[in-house]
Amino acid sequence: MQVTDNVEKQKALDLAEESREKEWKHPSFVAELFRGNFQWEQVYPFPDQDPADKRIGDEYIEKVKAVLEEYVDPDEVDRTGEVPREAILALAEIGGFGMKIPKEYGGLGFSQTNYSRVVSFIGSYCASTAVWLSAHQSIGVPQPLKVFGTDEQRKKYLPRLAKGAVSAFALTEPGVGSDPARMITTATPSEDGSYYLLNGEKLWCTNGPVAEILVVMALTPSITVNGKEKKQITAFIVESDMPGFEVAHHCSFMGIRGIENGVLRFTNVKVPKENIIGKTGEGLKIALTTLNAGRLTIPATATAGGKGCMYLSKDWVNERIQWGVPIGKHQAVGIRLANMAANTFAMDSMTLMSCSFVDRGSKDIRLEAAMAKYYCTETCWSMMDDFVQVRGGKGYETVASLRARGEKPIPAERMLRDTRISRIIEGTSEIMQLFIAREAMDTHVSRVMPIMDPRTPFSKKWPLIRKAMGFYMKWLPKQYLPSSAAFNVRYLSAANQDHLAYVGKTSKKLARSLFFAMAKHKQKLEREQLVLRCYVDIGTDLFAMAASLSRAESLLAKNPSDKTLQDLVDLFCRNAKKRIADNFRRARRNHNWLVNRVRDAYMEGKYDWMTTDIYKELEAPSAKSAAPAEKETLEPVPTAKAGS
Ligand SMILES: Cc1cc2nc3c(=O)[nH]c(=O)nc-3n(C[C@H](O)[C@H](O)[C@H](O)COP(=O)(O)OP(=O)(O)OC[C@H]3O[C@@H](n4cnc5c(N)ncnc54)[C@H](O)[C@@H]3O)c2cc1C
Repeated sequence: MQVTDNVEKQKALDLAEESREKEWKHPSFVAELFRGNFQWEQVYPFPDQDPADKRIGDEYIEKVKAVLEEYVDPDEVDRTGEVPREAILALAEIGGFGMKIPKEYGGLGFSQTNYSRVVSFIGSYCASTAVWLSAHQSIGVPQPLKVFGTDEQRKKYLPRLAKGAVSAFALTEPGVGSDPARMITTATPSEDGSYYLLNGEKLWCTNGPVAEILVVMALTPSITVNGKEKKQITAFIVESDMPGFEVAHHCSFMGIRGIENGVLRFTNVKVPKENIIGKTGEGLKIALTTLNAGRLTIPATATAGGKGCMYLSKDWVNERIQWGVPIGKHQAVGIRLANMAANTFAMDSMTLMSCSFVDRGSKDIRLEAAMAKYYCTETCWSMMDDFVQVRGGKGYETVASLRARGEKPIPAERMLRDTRISRIIEGTSEIMQLFIAREAMDTHVSRVMPIMDPRTPFSKKWPLIRKAMGFYMKWLPKQYLPSSAAFNVRYLSAANQDHLAYVGKTSKKLARSLFFAMAKHKQKLEREQLVLRCYVDIGTDLFAMAASLSRAESLLAKNPSDKTLQDLVDLFCRNAKKRIADNFRRARRNHNWLVNRVRDAYMEGKYDWMTTDIYKELEAPSAKSAAPAEKETLEPVPTAKAGS
């Protein structure tokens, strides 16, 4: 069993390694941070949105707002599980499905910043409606076609997609979540190679039940490299009217109840070879590259969630009097409010900075986007929890019930449910940690891992060892020298100057610690997820601090005496420093060994004695009670014709 597990794990790791983008074509601020090289000049001055571009976004948000106000009642969407068809058609008519599609193909050609602003604006009103648009163009067909598609594919599909032919992304399968190596959907080539027959099932495909055009990942025949079988995952454009395509089940969820999501079945679906995106075997790489920028709408929406909590809490914490004062004045409530504000500023700064990096095209953003996704979704979730707590019983009550009692219909309960999914989709938080750790360690992995890999022949090891020694003899001593970053900051307070110096100094400490962790654990470091998580969290906090300080500087330049802003960023940085100190301590001194022991005992059933005296029939639900609420099967949304 252990042997099989290890083989499976190695296969998963090998596939992940093959599919990652190996080159760093552009500088990466965060990758340098992990190497002990804090490059303040990469993030300062803050890359503010160009005013002309901002105007385009502002005007479009007004249009979207009018559509939402006319057609969408978010509580009704939550109750019925449907976004009104009129809303989808109206959004299609104003180009909502073509925001990320270039103008030459009939799209709006928005910048990443404007696209994120619009989707997060919609999300702050109705999360389900936002998901319709973002599943279509953050991960659906438009993005991979833009980057990897052929001219013919772009001309054929992008104009349709821009007009509102809904698209979806189908990777997950019943056995494939975070681990695509377990994929079993196949695409078998015809004898003459002119088409492929697609067979299999895809799970939880957002927009899948209403999509006209989908990107589907499937296994094409394996190839043999150095005597070893190498799995080939390939991306196909599939149209839902191809015979053999079927929506097998509509899924329903805790939140975002108005999304369309289902199990898709493919039975001998004949897909022409021209529908392959990129090359055979490049599917996973295409998916991962697409997600690098694609996942930025998630932190943007999470940030909008934070802003929503701030906005909806403010009057309440002033008006609600308990024990003689407004509840916000009780320090136990006050700390939640202060952190809400400080964290929202950090989330906004990280997201805006990452989007702007995409727009400028001069930076590698894979780490920044993953960190923004990880940090913002985790923080937004705890902020939603605070929001519910601050609202007390009214935070737990549904909008319908509040309204019926004549209370303000503040949807804290729905917002909490809607938010939860963002820590799972487009890379769970745990997978984001692994992704960040791998990219952060690239300097070392690329130099040291081939030496440690038992599969590397001995004759090849010596030159690698000599090269690595040459590198580390120069690199390591530098990690003990003071940071040479030029902190050209005119307006920041003395406190914030200190914070900036701290980021420079701590970046070096992080680089050293990572190096020594690798020397200590060697290849087993990959298994030390709790240690790696500490370093990932430190790096993420350093990025959040740098982004917040840079943005604060940019805002303070316009209004130097704004003490409230200085306090805001000061609070965020002080909190971050405490977390960082904690994480360094936990990486060094921990009882992870004990965690592992208790975990093993639990998994082996040795604590089953504790779970007596509870109702256990849940283990064997009757077929009837197990059946999820069926959604009415919807006809695919027709392509919205311009002007129709
Ligand atoms: C509402 C919704 C919409 C979705 N939309 C789409 C879509 O449009 N297209 C699509 O293809 N998929 C979609 N998904 C699937 C989604 O991407 C997966 O749920 C997600 O990738 C996690 O996979 P999983 O649920 O199978 O969890 P698993 O991979 O089974 O993971 C279970 C738990 O184990 C953890 N875990 C797994 N591997 C590791 C590891 N190596 N180290 C540490 N922890 C690990 C995970 O983080 C998680 O906490 C959607 C899912 C939902 C619920």
